[in-house]
Amino acid sequence: MAEKSFKYMILGGGVSAGYAAREFANQGVKPGELAIISRETVAPYERAALSKGYLFPEGASRQRLPSFHICAGAGWEILLPEWYEEKGISLIMDTEIVEADLDSKTLISAAGEAFKYQVLIIATGSTVLRLSDCGLQGANSKNIFYLRDIDEAEQISQALDAKKTAKAVVVGGGYIALEISASLRMNNIDVTMIFPEPWCMPRLFTPGIAAFYEGYYANKGIKIIKGTVAIGFDAHPNGEVKNVLLADGRALPADIVAVGVGAMPATTLFYWQLNEEVGGIKIDGLMRTNVPDVYAIGDVASFYSKIYNDVRRVEHVDHARRSAEQAVKAIYASEQGMTIEEYDYLPFFYSKTFDLSWQFYGDNVGDTVLFGDTDPKSESHKFGQYWIDNGKVVGVFLESGTAEECDAIGLVARVQPDALSMDEMAKQGIYFALCVQGHSDISLKGLKKRHSDLPYSP
Ligand code: FAD
Ligand code: NAD
Repeated sequence: MAEKSFKYMILGGGVSAGYAAREFANQGVKPGELAIISRETVAPYERAALSKGYLFPEGASRQRLPSFHICAGAGWEILLPEWYEEKGISLIMDTEIVEADLDSKTLISAAGEAFKYQVLIIATGSTVLRLSDCGLQGANSKNIFYLRDIDEAEQISQALDAKKTAKAVVVGGGYIALEISASLRMNNIDVTMIFPEPWCMPRLFTPGIAAFYEGYYANKGIKIIKGTVAIGFDAHPNGEVKNVLLADGRALPADIVAVGVGAMPATTLFYWQLNEEVGGIKIDGLMRTNVPDVYAIGDVASFYSKIYNDVRRVEHVDHARRSAEQAVKAIYASEQGMTIEEYDYLPFFYSKTFDLSWQFYGDNVGDTVLFGDTDPKSESHKFGQYWIDNGKVVGVFLESGTAEECDAIGLVARVQPDALSMDEMAKQGIYFALCVQGHSDISLKGLKKRHSDLPYSP
C-alpha cells in the first residue's frame, strides 16, 4: 500500500489531539503538514459530554454532535470537520494503529497502511478496564456497557430509549459510575450502584465529601451497595444480562449494566521504545519523550510536577488541553532554536451531576477541613474542603461555587497560603479563599490570569 507522509502527526483523535490541532493552527501550520490518526470515526470532541449531556433524556439539554466537538468545552470556536479541511489538516479516521516503529518514524495501521512522520505527538488516552478481561462469568452478555467513546455512549443511549422502565446496576464507585448513575436516573431508570470501597470516589473524596453525594444520590432514589464486587452475570436465553452476581452472594436483577471500574493509559504500542514512569510515557517539561521528535500529551503522559516535585499522570480534561498546547508551542519554539517555559501544571478536576457541580484544585494530601452546608437535603449544596500539608493549604474542593469562588480556590491551591487553625478554617470556609484572592499582589494576579486562560466548563 502507498505510504503517506506528514511533517507532524498526532496519534489519537481525542481531547488533547483536538486542542493540539487548534494550537497548530494558531502557530500557522501549513496545509498538508499535519495529520491526526484516530480509530474513532468522528473529529475530536469533548469526551466529558459522553457521561453527561449525551445520556440525558430527550429534551433535557441532551447533547449530540456537532455541538460538543472541540473546543466547545473551552467556549472557543467549535472545530467541525470542515475546519480541519480548510486548514489542510488531514483527519485520518477509523484507522487503528497497531505498530509503531520510532526508529524509522513509521506507524502501521490494522489495514497495513504505513504513515511516516517527522514529529510525532502521542495522544492515545486511556483504555477502559473490562470485566471480561478479568474472566468474569457472563461478562460478555448483551446490555453490559462501558463508556469511553461516542459509539459506546450511543449504545447506552439507545438502550435507554428502548428500555424505558429498566433496572440498571452500575458497577463501580468512581467518576464514570457517579456520572452515569445520575444520567440514568434522569432517564427515570431504577439505579443501584455497587463498589468495594467504604465510600464513593475514594481517589479524591474523603468520607465527609462522599457522605454528601451518597446522601444526595439516595434522595434522588439511587441505591448504593458498598463493600462488595461483581463476580459474574446471569443472562437470559437471548443473551441479555439478567442478574449481577455479587461477592456477598446476592444476585441483583438488571436489564442494563454500566461498568466503570477504571482505565489504563494506552501505551502498549510503545513498550520497550519509550521510557515509562508511574504507568505512563515519561516526558520532560516540554512534553518530549526520551526519543527525539516524539512527544506525549494527555492521559498517557507522565510529567514532572514542578509544584509538587514528583512525577504524575493526570486523567482529566484540563491537563489534556494544556499539555496539548504546551507540546505544540514547544515544537514550534524548537524549530526556531528557542525554548518555552517548562510545564508547570496545577491539577484541576471537575464533575457535574444532577444540579450539582464541583471543582477541585491542587493536591489531596494532608489533614482535611470540611466547611459549609454538607446536608444533602439542604437547598444551598454549598460546601467544600481544604487539604492542609505542613501548615500550607495545598488543595481545595468546592461544590456549587460561583465563578469568583472557583477562581479563588484555584489561586489558593497555586499559592499555598499558610493555614489558619482547623477551627478557623472551618468557620471561615470559602471566605478564606476569597480573602487570599482579595489580598493577592501583582505576581499573584499574574498566576491567576494564567489559570483563567482556559474557561473550565466541560
Ligand atoms: P482521549 O480523549 O481518550 O483520546 C484518545 C484517542 O486516541 C481516542 O480517539 C482513541 O480512539 C485514540 N487511540 C488510542 N489508541 C489508538 C490507536 N492505536 N490507533 C488509533 N487511535 C487510537 N475529565 C474531566 O476533567 N472532567 C470530566 O467531566 C470528564 N468526564 C469524562 C467522561 C467520560 C465518559 C470519560 C471517558 C472521561 C472523562 N474525563 C473527564 C476524562 C477526560 O475525558 C480525559 O482525561 C481526556 O479525554 C484525555 O484526553 P486524551 O486526548 O489523552 O485521550
Ligand atoms: P475510577 O478509577 O475513578 O473508578 C473506578 C472505581 O471502580 C473505583 O471506585 C473502584 O474501586 C471500582 N471498582 C473496581 N473494580 C470493581 C468491581 N469489580 N466491582 C465494583 N467496583 C469496582 O475510574 P472510572 O470511573 O472508570 O473512570 C475512568 C477514567 O475516566 C479515569 O481516567 C477518570 O479520570 C476518567 N473520568 C473522569 C471524569 C471526571 O473527571 N469528571 C469523569 C468520567 C471519567
